[in-house]
Amino acid sequence: RLPVLVGGAVFQHHPLRAVGFVLDNSARKELEQRKDDFISMASHELRNPLTALKLQTTLLRRQFTRQGILDQASALVNMESQIHKITRLVEELLDVSKIQAGRLEYAWEPVDLDALLREIAETVQQTSPGHRILVQSVARATVTGDRDWLGQVFTNLLSNAIKYSPGAETVEVDLCVYAETVTIQVRDHGLGIAREQRDKIFERFYRVADPRQKAISGLGLGLYIVAEIVTHHGGTITVESAVGKGSTFTVAFPKEKSGS
Ligand code: ADP
Repeated sequence: RLPVLVGGAVFQHHPLRAVGFVLDNSARKELEQRKDDFISMASHELRNPLTALKLQTTLLRRQFTRQGILDQASALVNMESQIHKITRLVEELLDVSKIQAGRLEYAWEPVDLDALLREIAETVQQTSPGHRILVQSVARATVTGDRDWLGQVFTNLLSNAIKYSPGAETVEVDLCVYAETVTIQVRDHGLGIAREQRDKIFERFYRVADPRQKAISGLGLGLYIVAEIVTHHGGTITVESAVGKGSTFTVAFPKEKSGS
C-alpha cells in the first residue's frame, strides 16, 4: 500500500506525473476506506462494554435507592447521564458507518408527523429544563416513512436548536401542510450560522470553527445523518440563519396523495 504513495511522489516531477496522480488518488481512497472501517470497528467495540456499564450502573443506583443511600444513588444518576452521552456519540458513529456502507435499514409505514413531533419534543424537553419547546401544528399530516429514523431527524434538529442557543430559551416547531408538501420548521434564537458555513454543516464531521461554540460538544455528524434520512424519504432540508439572531431549519416531505 505504501509503494503506491511513494509512486505518486516519484512521478511528481516527471512527464508521467498524471499517472502518479491516479495512483495517489487510489491510495487516498484506500486510506479513506481504512478510516471508515476503523470508525465502524471502533464504534462496534465500544458499544458492548458501554451497554454492560449502563446496566450495572442502573442496578447499583436502584440498590442504593432501596437502601436509602441517596448521595451514592445521586452520584450514579450523574454517571448514567455521562454514559448516555457517550452512548449517543457511539451510536452516531455507528449510524454514519451504516450510511457509508449503504446499510441503513428503513421500515416503511404511515407516520403521523404531528404525533411524532409532539412525542420527540416532550422527550427532548425533559432533558432540557432551561429551554421551552413550543410545538404548533395547524393540521395533521401523514407520510410514509420510517418512524424511528424520522424521530431521529426531529431529535437531532431539536437538540441542536437547544445546544446552539445558550442564552435564548425558546425553540419553536411548526408543522404546515401545503398542496404538495408537508413542512416542519425548527426555529431557534441562538448563535446563528454564517452564510459561508450553511452548506458545509450538512457534511460529515463538519463543525463550525467559532469560538462561541467551543464549549459545545459534538462530532459534526448530526446534520449529516439528518440530511441522509430526509433525502431517503424523498424530502429536502434547508436552513435560513442570521448570526447572533438564530436559525430555522426547514424539512419538506412530499405530501401523501391520500394523507391528512
Ligand atoms: P454537532 O452538533 O455534533 O457539531 P451537527 O452535524 O449536528 O454536529 O452540526 C454541524 C454544525 O452545524 C455544528 O457544529 C454547528 O456549528 C452548526 N449548527 C447545527 N445546528 C445549529 C443551530 N441550530 N444553530 C447554530 N449552529 C448550528
